[in-house]
Amino acid sequence: MLRTHTCGELNLANLGETVTLCGWVQKSRDLGGTTFIDVRDRYGLTQLVLNEDTSSVIREKGRTLGREFVVKVTGTVLERTNKNLKMPTGEIEIAVNDIEIINASKIPPFMIEDETDGGEELRAKYRYLDLRRNPIRNNLMLRHKMAQEVRKYLDALNFIEVETPVLIKSTPEGARDFVVPSRMNPGEFYALPQSPQTFKQLLMVSGFDRYFQIVKCFRDEDLRADRQPEFTQIDCELAFIEQEDILNIFEGLTRHLFRTVKGIELNEFPRMQYADAMRLYGSDKPDRRFGMEFVELNGIMQGKGFSVFDNAELIVGINAKGCAEYTRKQLDELTEWLKRPQIGATGLIYCRYQADGTLKSSVDKFYGEDDLTNLAAAFNAEPGDLILILAGHSQKVRKQMNELRLEMGTRLGLRDKNTFAPLWVLDFPLLEWDEESGRYHAMHHPFTSPKPEDIAMLDTEPGEVRANAYDLVINGTEIGGGSIRIHDRGLQSLMFKHLGFSAEEAQKQFGFLMDAFEYGAPPHGGIAFGFDRLCSIFAGLDSIRDVIAFPKNNSGRDVMIDTPSTISEAQMNELKINTTV
Ligand code: ASP
Repeated sequence: MLRTHTCGELNLANLGETVTLCGWVQKSRDLGGTTFIDVRDRYGLTQLVLNEDTSSVIREKGRTLGREFVVKVTGTVLERTNKNLKMPTGEIEIAVNDIEIINASKIPPFMIEDETDGGEELRAKYRYLDLRRNPIRNNLMLRHKMAQEVRKYLDALNFIEVETPVLIKSTPEGARDFVVPSRMNPGEFYALPQSPQTFKQLLMVSGFDRYFQIVKCFRDEDLRADRQPEFTQIDCELAFIEQEDILNIFEGLTRHLFRTVKGIELNEFPRMQYADAMRLYGSDKPDRRFGMEFVELNGIMQGKGFSVFDNAELIVGINAKGCAEYTRKQLDELTEWLKRPQIGATGLIYCRYQADGTLKSSVDKFYGEDDLTNLAAAFNAEPGDLILILAGHSQKVRKQMNELRLEMGTRLGLRDKNTFAPLWVLDFPLLEWDEESGRYHAMHHPFTSPKPEDIAMLDTEPGEVRANAYDLVINGTEIGGGSIRIHDRGLQSLMFKHLGFSAEEAQKQFGFLMDAFEYGAPPHGGIAFGFDRLCSIFAGLDSIRDVIAFPKNNSGRDVMIDTPSTISEAQMNELKINTTV
């Protein structure tokens, strides 16, 4: 090896030793007689010193080193006079005997420091330099540790890791597929998997019994902070189990990760019905780091002559504790925030519970003291509280109130990154009405089983049928989701029929799975965790980008390698892709 030690391990125990280090020049300070140089590698930083005891040739060489030069340095470990106890190597320095410049470096386009001056775009273009910075490297190390712990936990429970193919045929998970043209089969395409869903189910038919894979999945969707066109799942499937077993095993996995990676012992995860989550939080992924539950107010507020409320399908409010002091200006600003097209509320009604115990609302014209007292009582409000109310079409109002609740939670400092509030959301609807296509879609995916007692409703009230489906939510982020699957050909074809597939289409697309169900398919179910999201929550980040080594930007581009890009005419011809369209 070129080095005897790393840049992160020398301390007083090594005094007097002759050592050789390799690394990158973090910075150097030339104080006339003495030059200090910090060398960095992934393990840490070590201070080199060149002074009158150093040979003049080496001192001269030391002066030529620029930031990010790669060097190999030999010297003696000395005790520092000026100790830095914040660094593991802060009590020593290396008196340099020899320096070899292994490779020079251009001046980096941004500072390789914890706080850098580089903007998003620049850092993305030089991602390999960004990855030298501690915060990003630490994220990747955290991710590595988490992946190892996932494997340890699942291996101990007899799960086996199986790789499934990447060139497949479309799996309907509700997003668009990325497709790959087949040269050998002109005019035909592979699709990249949105998830290994059908393969893992087939592995259960094959008797593998407990499968997992830390696997790349691909979805051609519009991108957001927590979405990338390619992302990683911890994908799992089990046979001969019930929903309760899956919840227990994967709650166990999550707790194992918190324990081993973050040293946090989580209590048993609370569980909530989907219907309750929607009623109380207007979201299927409530952030439960704070309360501020919705209170439905139709009974209290309707019939008093205020037409906005009288005509509303739903009137719903939250109590922003301690916000009665909000000024008119602040409330106007909140109203404007709600009216932005992203949220689309038409207005905001409020009621202040003033410090002197009186109640003051923005609709005092219609509501007397008794009405407002009833209103306050519905929230168990106290002096100092501010009740915020929205009204309108139920589904829309719940969505808007969810945004408002989260915003107020943020403003009130109730969403601490170091507090973790996990929640299982259970009994999702099986089907979801899609306005655009005018038909029902599978809310999870078409292989999810309906609750047996609800199957009869498939014909009469399809929207009411509940699924054996569950999500794990942490701090308002969906971390994982899964379901107990259909393992019966008849029921699976019935599902496809309800999803608007003709028998021929279903056979063409999913015949392989339905055929497999006729050769002894065990009852099975599974779950997949979004690994990037889980890592970003562990790292305390809002975006998944910085737990991914080489992420794409918001337009799905990798600006470093500059892709997507065009391909040559020859490649196009070979693939028989018609460019004249
Ligand atoms: N394949 C599903 C998904 O990616 C997860 C599952 O049902 O196991 O969301």
